Amino acid sequence: MKILVPVKRVIDYNVKPRVKADGSGVDLTNVKMSMNPFDEIAVEEAIRIKDAGKADEIIAVSVGPAKAQETLRTALAMGADRAILVETDAEVEPLAVAKILKAIADEEQPGLILLGKQAIDDDSNQTGQMLAALMGRPQGTFANTVELDGDSVMVKREIDGGLETVKLAMPAIVTTDLRLNEPRYASLPNIMKAKKKPLDTKSPADFGVDITPRLTTSNVSEPPVRQAGEKVADVDALVAKMKALGIA
Ligand code: AMP
Repeated sequence: MKILVPVKRVIDYNVKPRVKADGSGVDLTNVKMSMNPFDEIAVEEAIRIKDAGKADEIIAVSVGPAKAQETLRTALAMGADRAILVETDAEVEPLAVAKILKAIADEEQPGLILLGKQAIDDDSNQTGQMLAALMGRPQGTFANTVELDGDSVMVKREIDGGLETVKLAMPAIVTTDLRLNEPRYASLPNIMKAKKKPLDTKSPADFGVDITPRLTTSNVSEPPVRQAGEKVADVDALVAKMKALGIA
């Protein structure tokens, strides 16, 4: 059984994004980029499933610029077996990514496709769901626990105030939530070994997918600046202030 893991190169989660002066988007000049954190969780889960003897091969896929090779090499260093870069410098929306992933899934026939629940740059939370719809296959989103059981996969989903367990017939699409696992760091020897693992480069046209955007971004703005706080001398002064503001 193969597992397909789509990994996106995004602005590193520790970086404070800067909005471009003209409000057209986030300035990515000289900004540190990394693998989307939810995708690291997906790679980790795929490795654990393979280590448990329930999968034979993990294929990492990224749709993005040539530099997304670095993201794929990270996935390979963590433990993926091979990688596919679908190279484009254009901004690719979730629907186009889902169409490309469907074409790859048609070729590779994975039993499981493990995506992140959302990319932290666009916060779309759409690709996994669109892929499931395009493939006509079941989806388990916001996975907290994933257990393979023969031809099906049990997914405990994070929902408001609790967990919901769903059973999906494979091939299935699963999207990872934060508490699914703690991703490993790639060791230096594995980073070296990853350089020799196969990485194929394709283009969206190879899959016959038109990636022309369907959305135009009208404006991107910074969040409002927070007002400075005020130090109070003691608890009595704090309570008095809160009473004056009507919050105590
Ligand atoms: P989104 O729907 O954009 O929030 O992304 C959800 C998930 O889809 C991500 O966590 C990735 O697993 C996958 N994904 C989205 N865009 C890409 C991309 N350009 N390349 C590879 N995987 C992607």
